[in-house]
Amino acid sequence: MELSSLATIADVRAALRDGATAVDVCTEFLGRIAARDGDLRAFNHTAAEPALARAAALDRRGPDAPDLPLLGVPIAVKDNICTRGLPTTASSRILAGYVPPYDATVVERLTAAGAVVVGKTNCDEFAMGSTTEHSVTGPTRNPWDPACVPGGSSGGSAAAVAARLAPVALGSDTGGSIRQPAAFCGIVGLKPTYGRVSRYGLLAFASSLDQIGPFGLTVADAAAVLQAMAGPDPRDATSADAAVPDCGAGAAEPMRRPTIGVPWAILENGVDAGVAAAFATAVDALKDMGATVVDVALPHAEYAVPTYYIVAPAEASSNLARYDGVRYAYRAPLDEKDATLDRMYDRTRRDGFGDEVKRRIMLGTYALSAGYYDAYYLKAQQVRTLIRDDYDAAFERVDAVAMPTTPTTAFRLGERADDPLQLYVGDVFTASANLTGLPAVSLPCGRDDAGLPVGLQLIGRAFDEVTLLGIGAAYEEQAPWWREPPTAGAGMPRDEAPAS
Ligand code: GLN
Repeated sequence: MELSSLATIADVRAALRDGATAVDVCTEFLGRIAARDGDLRAFNHTAAEPALARAAALDRRGPDAPDLPLLGVPIAVKDNICTRGLPTTASSRILAGYVPPYDATVVERLTAAGAVVVGKTNCDEFAMGSTTEHSVTGPTRNPWDPACVPGGSSGGSAAAVAARLAPVALGSDTGGSIRQPAAFCGIVGLKPTYGRVSRYGLLAFASSLDQIGPFGLTVADAAAVLQAMAGPDPRDATSADAAVPDCGAGAAEPMRRPTIGVPWAILENGVDAGVAAAFATAVDALKDMGATVVDVALPHAEYAVPTYYIVAPAEASSNLARYDGVRYAYRAPLDEKDATLDRMYDRTRRDGFGDEVKRRIMLGTYALSAGYYDAYYLKAQQVRTLIRDDYDAAFERVDAVAMPTTPTTAFRLGERADDPLQLYVGDVFTASANLTGLPAVSLPCGRDDAGLPVGLQLIGRAFDEVTLLGIGAAYEEQAPWWREPPTAGAGMPRDEAPAS
């Protein structure tokens, strides 16, 4: 296998079997990053030296060492996940220069499984956003059209995998931040069940919603990364004490005859024509594959966005209180004459946080304040239960619920930058999986008229990622969209696009 055609984990394994070394594989991907990331800007930080040293150590293990499931597989890690010795900034000024003294549990486990961290990827500041534009390092571009956003908040990770700069990557998903950029970049993104993957070492945004999950080109690759990092962790009290099923088997045994529920009523309004058309085609493909498709009702789905935008900012306002200029990272410089503690807090947070993060802190502080707590936060928690009840009722009849991942495809950089409400509404189909804790995956399912990717979202039963992976693998077999790499000219009006 030519190193220049490496794309998936299976390709990396084949190359190593053919005699390539882990250093060869790592050098190939680092070379792609060096050549392309100046334009794409998927990475905040490239870890060439430590990656090559790690690959060389793997090569020294010798032919008799036990096989590792991710041996020599380069992985890109979102910059809000702690990596020992590598900068971890969450794309925020307030964490400029922060180098964690420890690895997140996921990084520790993936490294133990043979993966090689090649860099830290760009994201919206503290994962608050849907475009990767709220980043102190500037936006990442969509590999399908550099004038468009890659989605967010894990936009750097999604763009890196779509552009073949790394076979797999990690993101975090609080309201859609893995699935939405996966959809916008035409790749697979999986949010595991809440508690399936340890959050130890993830810079917290909203602790009852955050989950780390994988990006890959294929369902099998997402499954392999999930397998290597899932499972209980004594360092995260919210990690679930549930045995990890064989995720690889889920992806290796396509489930061709599932029953799938589609909530047609909530798809009637506000979905772009290109997304609706690709979704309808995907539903036909599911039927062709052998699935039974039924209508399901999710009567409280319309409250997912308002509920999410109470719960997430409330938890964020509490989590972000720790960035006070005292213990680590940024502290605003003060003249000695006006250097009071209050002023230090004030200026550090004023200069260290960007506008979107400040907006969330204010919204959250308001929702939690005495006198408003019952009306907002408590009410939101009650609605969460109603949304979960809808899904539990649906899962009595179906194996998974399907809908588009997003109401639109990728839009142009800057187009929505001044309109937070329009961005919030874009979370309409993703937020409920976080509010309910349920696992959900976005699969590439076609293109709109401009040639931009569309995502198909499948939501499953709690702790049953295997069913999602099995249905995903069967769909991918039926509709292998991942094989087409990003085409230059997607996103342009048809008559201006170069002939492919
Ligand atoms: N777009 C959502 C937000 O801005 C989701 C973010 C996320 O999942 N981290 O909050």
